[in-house]
Amino acid sequence: MTEADLLARHRAVMPTWMGLLYEEPIEIVQGRDRRVIDGSGKTYLDFFAGVLTNAMGYDVAEISDAVRKQLDTGILHTSTLYLIRSQVELAERIAKLSGIPDAKVFFTNSGSEANDTALMLATQYRRSNQVLALRNSYHGRSFATVAITGNRGWSASALSPVKVNYVHGGYRYRSPFRDLSDAAYIDACVADLVDVLETATAGDVACMIAEPVQGVGGFSLPPDGLFKAMKEVLDSYGVLFISDEVQTGWGRTGEHFWGIGAHDVTPDAMTFAKGLGNGLAVGGVVARGDLVDCFTANSFSTFGGNPVSMAGATAVLDYIADHDLQANAAARGEQLLSGLRAADSPLVGEVRGKGLMIGVELVEPGGTEPSVRAAGRVLEETKRRGLLVGKGGLHGNVLRIAPPMTLTAEEAQEGLDILVDSLAAAQAALS
Ligand code: PMP
Repeated sequence: MTEADLLARHRAVMPTWMGLLYEEPIEIVQGRDRRVIDGSGKTYLDFFAGVLTNAMGYDVAEISDAVRKQLDTGILHTSTLYLIRSQVELAERIAKLSGIPDAKVFFTNSGSEANDTALMLATQYRRSNQVLALRNSYHGRSFATVAITGNRGWSASALSPVKVNYVHGGYRYRSPFRDLSDAAYIDACVADLVDVLETATAGDVACMIAEPVQGVGGFSLPPDGLFKAMKEVLDSYGVLFISDEVQTGWGRTGEHFWGIGAHDVTPDAMTFAKGLGNGLAVGGVVARGDLVDCFTANSFSTFGGNPVSMAGATAVLDYIADHDLQANAAARGEQLLSGLRAADSPLVGEVRGKGLMIGVELVEPGGTEPSVRAAGRVLEETKRRGLLVGKGGLHGNVLRIAPPMTLTAEEAQEGLDILVDSLAAAQAALS
């Protein structure tokens, strides 16, 4: 069966709203290190890592061995009604890594479920269903997380179990504050937050949730320190602060283990998923113990924290530490950022990011208008040359570059060369 046949069957049986990349979508059938192979045998260097999920790359022996060892026990799942040693040990480790005092952890199967849990905790704790989120945010596909997603392209439902207001602090490039200095931008976002708290809410907001670097929103990020300034305001109103670390956690941003680390502030809760499992389904919430313990009724997850995911996740954290991958993310990120900034293409409006989360905002040549056609063209050109990159942003015009954290300097250069060639080819095709 060809990929075209599979595509026809996909279209017939899967929802219309499950989009695929590329004019001719690919099926990935094998992976090794930072490369994957599609159904036709073509190899690609992977600069998107399954939307940042395969953070260690593919076929990593230490991780596969840990998972296999668990499979060999015959136990894929028991129940949270029994003790699960690996779950307790991983929770202890994440609680410590979080830096949140007296932290407790609850494991889920996905980032959406993690954020949904954090919202349920915060709203229950504060006895209010009012929440704040950033404009241009993405927090998931559950009922409540769709409701707090501030990107119309991902707001599948207009209905909502929470009342949400959006504040500035995410997507600076297309905000009225783009040309301000960092300090003035922070002041403007803080003033906006105060204004929303004073004028748009009934004064008893439960929480604010934010991605330290917006992922789906095109790897856009505020200046360091913004969230410290915002949290001072939130604290004065008794509003809890949740950092969505689903994309930014585990050292991917390079200089800090959590994305929020750049803001010198301790959140009340953090949510995580994606890279922790290197492809296995695992997510969770780590938060202040009194916040986690605020439910009085029972609540659990059948598969959340299952022994297979726990074995894989533990091996991933070991692998990050043993190979100093946070430092590698910082070094490779710098290499990619400076290489892309030097590319000098009229299609590029901005190159931004931190560590291995790099966004390239594509614009119509000579202006700032978002260029969706350029993004589509560049994606096809990179694919043709054997490189996978992502696409995102409010307008779908941002290239998203997020290789596995194990990327080598040679692979970074190889990907950069392909990106530069692809930008030039796209420009030639569009002009
Ligand atoms: N939060 C962020 C920041 C995300 O990027 C995503 C997924 N793209 C989610 C939450 C939802 O995670 P999942 O798809 O695992 O439900």
